[in-house]
Amino acid sequence: MDYKNDIGYRRETLKKLLYNIQKSEDLIVKTLYDDFKKPEFEAVLTETNYVISELKDTIKNIHKWARRKRVFPSILNFPSTDYIYKEPYGNVLVISPWNYPFQLALCPLIAAVAAGNKVVLKPSELAPNTSAIIAKIIEKAFHVNHVEVIQGGVEVSNKLLAQRWDYIFFTGSVAVGKIVAKAAAEHLTPVTLELGGKNPCLIDETANLKLAAKRIVWGKFINAGQTCIAPDYILIQKDMKINFITYLMEEITKSYGKKMDKSPDFARIINTKNWVRLTNMIQNEKVIFGGEMNAETHYIAPTLIEEPNLDSPVMQEEIFGPILPILTYETEGDIANIIKRYEKPLAFYIFSDNPTFAKKLIKNYSFGGGCINDTVIHFSNKRLPFGGVGHSGIGAYHGQLSFDVFSHHKGVVKKGNWLDLPMRYAPYKDKLPTIKRLLDWM
Ligand code: NAD
Repeated sequence: MDYKNDIGYRRETLKKLLYNIQKSEDLIVKTLYDDFKKPEFEAVLTETNYVISELKDTIKNIHKWARRKRVFPSILNFPSTDYIYKEPYGNVLVISPWNYPFQLALCPLIAAVAAGNKVVLKPSELAPNTSAIIAKIIEKAFHVNHVEVIQGGVEVSNKLLAQRWDYIFFTGSVAVGKIVAKAAAEHLTPVTLELGGKNPCLIDETANLKLAAKRIVWGKFINAGQTCIAPDYILIQKDMKINFITYLMEEITKSYGKKMDKSPDFARIINTKNWVRLTNMIQNEKVIFGGEMNAETHYIAPTLIEEPNLDSPVMQEEIFGPILPILTYETEGDIANIIKRYEKPLAFYIFSDNPTFAKKLIKNYSFGGGCINDTVIHFSNKRLPFGGVGHSGIGAYHGQLSFDVFSHHKGVVKKGNWLDLPMRYAPYKDKLPTIKRLLDWM
């Protein structure tokens, strides 16, 4: 079991993992439904299929990604050949959240294994059925001394964080991200922090409103709004608001029917604590659509709120649920006044047919990633880095970048012995002008 040095062994274990996931796919989908009624379509698209595709890609490319890379040498070192070696960090801790409990646990784990690390995964206690099935699948695919799942809540998480790790990959809230960063600092352990934020969704006067409404409804209400990159609030040019709201209502009804609580395509809130947090956000707001709720089933309807006060609870923190506030702007100054109230978001969405305006916004505002004329879909391209900036996170992953995240990149120069230029050696007398000319020329 030489996972550190034997890339073939790593590949075989990943193939075993793929086999076990494919064999249990129906069960995983059912489990996700048991945890919070995640619709089958969403479970396949955003969880099982996503992981399977990531696994296949990793299995296909692992040898290429792990290979030492030759880079162009510096003329100062002539003659030399220069390489980057990918070295596994060692012991990796992955802590994952409940909202995409399968995908957000498995994807970092796959990359950490591919890169040659030993991995401990602590999945979320709030999606207990999914955590249990993850543990069973991992047990079948890996030796316990290679990859282990440790289930539990905050206490278990804290015990793990108190240990020394060579890398910690955390996905979750900003508040817990800070706890993880502090624990990691104790041993100078490098971290990736995939966190959240208040993601603006800006719509200008040139946007195709009907199409925008359709794409926003999908990105906002998938997983009942419990998506880190869901649009958090709408910021729309004032004159467009009435038409846009009409389209939004039409699209919501088209997607989930008139009796939205009966829709098989709409998930539930994960637990009572989050349900109460979200229902409190709706109190005292101007609800123009939805607003129905059920404490027993943790249901909250897709809900639209018009022009909330910026000091109200719904505009204070990340919503992370099926509530969409609609705010308006008239000038670019209004846009800045609202967006700059918040920390740098994980995602930013612009609906506009004016490329100059869209480019200006992308340059003016710092955010993790985003889309022009759509929502959420940037997540699905393996060739795009996915991660936050500032309070929305540290580091990024996906595709080959995930492999690189879990590898130390070791730069090595192999010096040739057939020539030894005298320039750098003492005594330095008279050599400085030549070295300066050489550096200038470079
Ligand atoms: P969370 O931070 O409460 O929990 C995440 C993990 O941390 C869980 O495994 C949990 O057991 C553990 N944890 C919780 N409290 C802890 C504590 N005090 N000390 C140590 N460990 C603790 O997050 P969540 O509620 O599971 O997920 C929702 C949050 O995650 C949202 O803010 C969302 O934006 C964010 N998120 C981000 C991404 C991303 O890719 N950037 C993806 C999904 C979710």
